[in-house]
Amino acid sequence: MKILVLNCGSSSIKYKLFDLATNEVAANGVVDKIGLKGSAIKLERPDGQKVLLEGEILDHQTGIEYILGVMTSEKHGCLKDLEEISAVGHRVVHGGEKFNGSVLVTDEVVEMMEKCISLAPLHNPPNLKGIESMKELLPDVPQVAVFDTAFHQTMPDYAYMYGIPYSLYQKYSIRRYGFHGTSHRFVSEKACEFLNRDFKSQRIITCHLGNGASIAAITNGVSVDTSMGFTPVEGLIMGTRAGDLDLGAATYIMDNEHIGTASLNTLINKHSGVLGISGVSSDFRELEKAAYQDQNERAILALNMFTYRIKKYIGSYIAALGGVDVLVFTGGIGENDTQVRAMICDNMEYLGIKLNEEVNAKLRGKEAQIQEQNAKVKIVVIPTDEELMIARDTNDIVNELAN
Ligand code: AMP
Repeated sequence: MKILVLNCGSSSIKYKLFDLATNEVAANGVVDKIGLKGSAIKLERPDGQKVLLEGEILDHQTGIEYILGVMTSEKHGCLKDLEEISAVGHRVVHGGEKFNGSVLVTDEVVEMMEKCISLAPLHNPPNLKGIESMKELLPDVPQVAVFDTAFHQTMPDYAYMYGIPYSLYQKYSIRRYGFHGTSHRFVSEKACEFLNRDFKSQRIITCHLGNGASIAAITNGVSVDTSMGFTPVEGLIMGTRAGDLDLGAATYIMDNEHIGTASLNTLINKHSGVLGISGVSSDFRELEKAAYQDQNERAILALNMFTYRIKKYIGSYIAALGGVDVLVFTGGIGENDTQVRAMICDNMEYLGIKLNEEVNAKLRGKEAQIQEQNAKVKIVVIPTDEELMIARDTNDIVNELAN
């Protein structure tokens, strides 16, 4: 069973073709710069061979035509026929309150997804474009939508509501939704599989630390809190996003810098986070080089702030869960940055969190336990794979349909 996974952004489409029978990634690539100069499709084959084809890719439908074309091309392809694709899974950023799980795409589902556009005006329209284009190109192939927000729909109301007039929730659906749900679900399940523990009986805290970063509290197999909110800007300090910020400071900045909402949005999304604090970079490798090799004080400050914020969230989620059994690190930073993991776990022994520093220092990018031998809390690194999760959901839903 071959499943094509698409992640359609405003000017790019990431794609991955899974062969779930062999658990192999048959093709992996991206269409870049859609509608812009220099548009091209990249393909990476399982044998490591890389292909780059330039072309005039003006819209998403053309981009998807290129993807299907390259996958079936005699020279580079991995498919004899498009009929080998049994289903397509789409990453969709926002499912609002309408979707608490992955769904088969129907006309009704598309209509409901259109109603969520106002909640993610930059992300949901290209996701929908991908679905509509695929429907035109392969009308008989079932499509499944997998939402970033769905996993967190189990949060209780007292965790997802904001302390603002209730009428604003009723009028505009303003509440906390959370994001990275597919990743939090994947790594929490995978951690339990790896530890040979029952997912439904564990109290788990998952730290997804990448350019975007969020943390989730999971118990009885469901998410009960997460750090991102109405938008992905709430919560942790990120590469370029501010994370939690006093709203009074935001209005003060607007008044004194004489800027409107659009500029404030750019400021808190693109110019803040560790980049804004350090003035060096949003990339942790460069940030750490500046901090440890050059003794750049603002880079050191940014790292201290980043890890302190995570530590505070872990503490609050331990309180929310009534304890913790498993702490998971994932994302580019969580999987690879040994120093950040050490800073986060430092001095948390009284909560049962004790890192094995030697093991931690050597562990990059692979599944492993990194706690001290007798520590109460298991600390694990799990490389995330959102696309695989999307492929599995797609497979499950399509199989259910067939039965
Ligand atoms: P992601 O958004 O999940 O791809 O994560 C990107 C972040 O991971 C960037 O800040 C990278 O600097 C960071 N990262 C990737 N590899 C490493 C590494 N070996 N050590 C430290 N940070 C890393």
